[in-house]
Amino acid sequence: MQKYVYYFGDGHAEGNAGMKNVLGGKGAGLAEMTNIGVPVPPGFTISTDVCTYFYAHDKNYPPELKDAVAENLARVEQSVGKKFGDPDKPLLVSVRSGARASMPGMMDTILNLGLNDETIQGLAKHDERFALDSYRRFIQMYSDVVLEVDKEHFEHELFALRDRAGVKTDAEIPAEALRELVATYKGIVREKSGKDFPQDVQQQLWGAIGAVFNSWNNQRAITYRKLNGIPDDWGTAVNVQSMVFGNMGNDCATGVAFTRNPSTGEKRFFGEYLANAQGEDVVAGIRTPLPISKAQAIENQKSLEETMPEVYAQLEDVYKKLEAHYRDMQDIEFTIEHLKLYLLQTRTGKRTGFAAVKIACDMVDEGLINHTEAVSRVEAGQIVQLLAPVFDIDEKQKALKGGRLLGRGLPAGPGAAAGRIAFNAERAVAMAKDDPVVLVRIETSPEDIAGMHSAAGILTTRGGLTSHAAVVARGMGRPCVVGAGSVRVDYGRAEMRSEGHEPLEEGDWVSIDGTTGEILSGKLPTKPSEIIQVLLEKTMKPEDSEVYRNFDRLLKWADEIRTLGVRTNADTPQDARVARLFGAHGIGLCRTEHMFFQEERILRVREMILARNEAGRRKALDEILPYQKADFEGIFRELDGMPVTIRLLDPPLHEFLPQTEGQMSTVAREMGWGFVELRAKVNQLHESNPMLGHRGCRLAVTYPEIYEMQVRAIFQAACAVKKDGIDARPEVMIPLVGTVKELTMLSEMVRRVAAETLKEQETELPIIVGTMIEIPRAALIADKLGEVAEFFSFGTNDLTQMTFGYSRDDAGSFLPEYVDKKILPKDPFESIDQEGVGQLVRLGTQRGRGANGSLKVGVCGEHGGDPDSIRFFRTCDLNYVSCSPYRVPVARLAAAQAELEFKHFEG
Ligand code: PEP
Ligand code: MG
Repeated sequence: MQKYVYYFGDGHAEGNAGMKNVLGGKGAGLAEMTNIGVPVPPGFTISTDVCTYFYAHDKNYPPELKDAVAENLARVEQSVGKKFGDPDKPLLVSVRSGARASMPGMMDTILNLGLNDETIQGLAKHDERFALDSYRRFIQMYSDVVLEVDKEHFEHELFALRDRAGVKTDAEIPAEALRELVATYKGIVREKSGKDFPQDVQQQLWGAIGAVFNSWNNQRAITYRKLNGIPDDWGTAVNVQSMVFGNMGNDCATGVAFTRNPSTGEKRFFGEYLANAQGEDVVAGIRTPLPISKAQAIENQKSLEETMPEVYAQLEDVYKKLEAHYRDMQDIEFTIEHLKLYLLQTRTGKRTGFAAVKIACDMVDEGLINHTEAVSRVEAGQIVQLLAPVFDIDEKQKALKGGRLLGRGLPAGPGAAAGRIAFNAERAVAMAKDDPVVLVRIETSPEDIAGMHSAAGILTTRGGLTSHAAVVARGMGRPCVVGAGSVRVDYGRAEMRSEGHEPLEEGDWVSIDGTTGEILSGKLPTKPSEIIQVLLEKTMKPEDSEVYRNFDRLLKWADEIRTLGVRTNADTPQDARVARLFGAHGIGLCRTEHMFFQEERILRVREMILARNEAGRRKALDEILPYQKADFEGIFRELDGMPVTIRLLDPPLHEFLPQTEGQMSTVAREMGWGFVELRAKVNQLHESNPMLGHRGCRLAVTYPEIYEMQVRAIFQAACAVKKDGIDARPEVMIPLVGTVKELTMLSEMVRRVAAETLKEQETELPIIVGTMIEIPRAALIADKLGEVAEFFSFGTNDLTQMTFGYSRDDAGSFLPEYVDKKILPKDPFESIDQEGVGQLVRLGTQRGRGANGSLKVGVCGEHGGDPDSIRFFRTCDLNYVSCSPYRVPVARLAAAQAELEFKHFEG
């Protein structure tokens, strides 16, 4: 016969921690605590199999369940010496849900079950007020959860009663008034449900069990499961447990605690309690809980350690035992009934990135876990928290309370920035000489690069997580908030408005939190992270920063595990340096277009674009070449001995031309053109769909001399640094390839020009040419491209754009709704769409490798820094991912975790 009910109590449990699938997290925790001798009120867990059965059998239970429950209830009665439904010594129980994965607050719970007009007498013998208070709580909870009578009806009466009695808290309501309240409550139940409140305790129990199973499929729970990827068929368990009371007097209490500090990771017991209270009072926030330890107490707060020293000592023993047993930081719930301690829950505690790293490293030092476990303990995405400048938490709270929140956008680049508002790049550069600047734009474009670089933070009102602003900001490690639709920017008036606030003008202070998306008026104080101070600024020594040392250790352990390479997307020597210091092994994408925008070159670039013939273009290109060469030299020097994938020019040419008439007349003057003539040329280059227009390799089909110049610059630079003993390893990448002919034609050209250059320089270097795969057609014909290319790099930004047909720059206006309405599980520009776009990555890799066994394959879209995507790329057997410099640590950690999962899966 299948076992459906598992008992725990008196130092022995039928289940254990390994049985989460059957007992749920809470049930497994209760069983395990019982087994290791932690005081837990006795009870039993009805398994998740019953939930599965319940839904498979039209909400009926397995026939043997009734007897099993009765039998286990009898064991509980015997253990505590009370009887369920007994008027003299009534046993009261709690009935709680508990799924495999924690789903906090999503499902139902009922406390004090077993109370009725008779059993209350037994309870009242000790304390009448307490008994009545428990009864009214029970009626409300049960009616809300099981009888579906809205709790507002009850709360309304409770508030009215408090007013009438002239008291502020429930604890002050006298017994007499509570008696009346119970009668009123029963009246509400009769009126709203058409039935009397059930007096039969068995009916109460089965009503509650059914309600908990039903709550598995309430809307909240369904939504939560979708958001967190919890399968619908797991089901919940039901825990029925003898009640203990933290609200029977001043020698009683209830509380929650963490075995270490969940926000800093400090190894110190940390928690809060409320004397004379029941669990829900802590959550309800009516009374302010007090700290449990003296160390944690401020001013004259009375800690548990002081008020109940013996119980506190016992609690300390218990938490140490639990932490050593679980070998991880625990989040516990406890109740003290007449100075006797009971544990009601233990589970792995949620923590910040800072705490996660510190706890993992400390536990390695304490011999509790090994390196592999430490690596799997830190959520990869959380590690960026350690790099970001931070706002002072108290100051931010003050500002929020003070009504300074202007709006929220998408948190696109983590960290905090406060600065003076600049509405265009030029002003940002100028103003940044005096004060930090926040560049506020409707959206950004490549010509804003300098302004973005000089800004402390970037705010846009349009655009999603892969909009230009977001990509560039993350690359630069700038705090950034994008798509803040509630904020309006008016360039004409140079002001930004948000409802209910005075408009802000250029030079006014604004603060943005790129970790949360909040935008606040005024200046909030920030400081750079210690890791940046040690690694980049060198203003702090490693030995002075524990945060840095732990960060470094953890990532080195990750490097020992992972097989997936991590490169970076970097366009400047500075970015390359940052990425190398963060542990990147090469550049996976150097976008050359940003180099074209710098002040001295843009004029030459414009001359090249506007040239009337090839000779004119070549002349201008000849002048650009030394700049490009210098750029590449700088990058090669930073990445001595590491591969540097350089992508030849990608964006449509008109992006380099002036856009407004004002800019056009300046440029016309600078270049000696007539204004009308220039405007005509700009208009001629205008495209309706530039993303699908004359860009990428298509430019080089028309103007091969552009790529020729770039290849010459690359190899001249490589030869130049080689003379200084630098091992430059360029890999030339052709963007936006969609046909084999494009690739054959252009790679032949690259090889020819590279060979010529090397010959001129009398130097030998391997010539490596590859292609981006960012058009669906390229993935489909990867077998043919694989015959020509030495490497593939999936440009998953464009591949996502073109596979879905969603414009990268416009999708921000509707994708949030798609995610809200569950049309898509996530923004596909943020995390790879495994089903569709991912299929192209897998298939393209297989086909490419089929044609060329030594084909190197990487990813250089934004997904290269996203942990879920990295996990997926590992399963596609890619060689490396490439991401922005500040994501490199995330990718290192995620790649190690992907490896552990993959190995586990492969057995
Ligand atoms: C891509 O499309 O994924 C890519 C890396 O190129 P870009 O973002 O420059 O278009
Ligand atoms: Mg692209």
